[in-house]
Amino acid sequence: MSKTNIGWIGLGTMGAPLAQRLLDAGHPVTGYNRSKEKEAALKAAGASIASTPAEALTNTDILFLMVSDDRAIWDVFSGDDGLLSAKASGKLIINMSTVSPAISRDFATVCREQGNEYLDAPVSGSVKQAQEGQLVIMVGGTAAAYAKATPVLELLGKLVLHIGDSGAGNTAKLAINLLLSFHAQGLAEAVIFAQHHGIKTEDFLTIMNNGALGNVFGKIKGDAILNDNYKPAFALKHIVKDLRLAKAEGWNTPLAEVAFQSFQEAQARFGEEDIIAIKKQLDG
Ligand code: NAP
Repeated sequence: MSKTNIGWIGLGTMGAPLAQRLLDAGHPVTGYNRSKEKEAALKAAGASIASTPAEALTNTDILFLMVSDDRAIWDVFSGDDGLLSAKASGKLIINMSTVSPAISRDFATVCREQGNEYLDAPVSGSVKQAQEGQLVIMVGGTAAAYAKATPVLELLGKLVLHIGDSGAGNTAKLAINLLLSFHAQGLAEAVIFAQHHGIKTEDFLTIMNNGALGNVFGKIKGDAILNDNYKPAFALKHIVKDLRLAKAEGWNTPLAEVAFQSFQEAQARFGEEDIIAIKKQLDG
């Protein structure tokens, strides 16, 4: 594969290992992060650093965005020195952030008007999968842009799937994260029930992981509960954001309502900690 000039905006928990993978694969990478200290590791690994989002776009063929939320996407595009001020054309912008389908549809249109292409390509998986190129990537946008993006996306994911038009990737991601919230709350409730009835957590997790309900999420988050380790891989504040986005899309099913309420309460106390800190919230 010829080496594509890659830009990467958002070097947080997920963005940093993903940009590093593309650098390790031999692509020239230009990074940008709003807080400058998060650029240091990528720079030390050999990447260039842009001083603004506009500069990152100008210097690259494919620009990835991996930032928090709709507000962040809005700032990256429309802020001072944002992408729209670059007046660059012929670029492909791939937004991997979990954001609303609506903002993807809007910026896909704006990008097209400027002679650029836009894909929404949110991911399922967390830090470990990002480091190992094992994410599941769901893509919304045109078939032509998808074809252009695929060789690079395949360096980041074990599965890359074109879901539909702009925003379809974001919609699929909200569905997955709704289920994720049910899993986290369910695991926490089951562990608490077992603990309160004298079952050792280690034994409960061993039973669960070896039965039909065993899965990767339960294994990783079960270990986190066992080790009292709530360091964020996927922060509580992000699942609340996603449940809010799902609600805005009309999701008001019974479990969705309970999860939204429950995770909002957890965010008030443990918002910067991992999603499985819901266990501490439910435990009182
Ligand atoms: P994170 O560690 O909190 O990083 C967020 C990034 O967004 C940082 O680079 C931050 O810059 C940037 N940002 C926030 N507001 C901004 C703004 N207004 N303007 C410019 N940049 C802004 O989050 P993360 O865990 O990497 O998650 C990133 C996205 O991936 C989220 O949408 C999340 O839902 C999704 N996701 C996360 C996981 C996971 O396991 N962590 C898994 C799948 C999907 P600063 O450093 O300056 O704050």
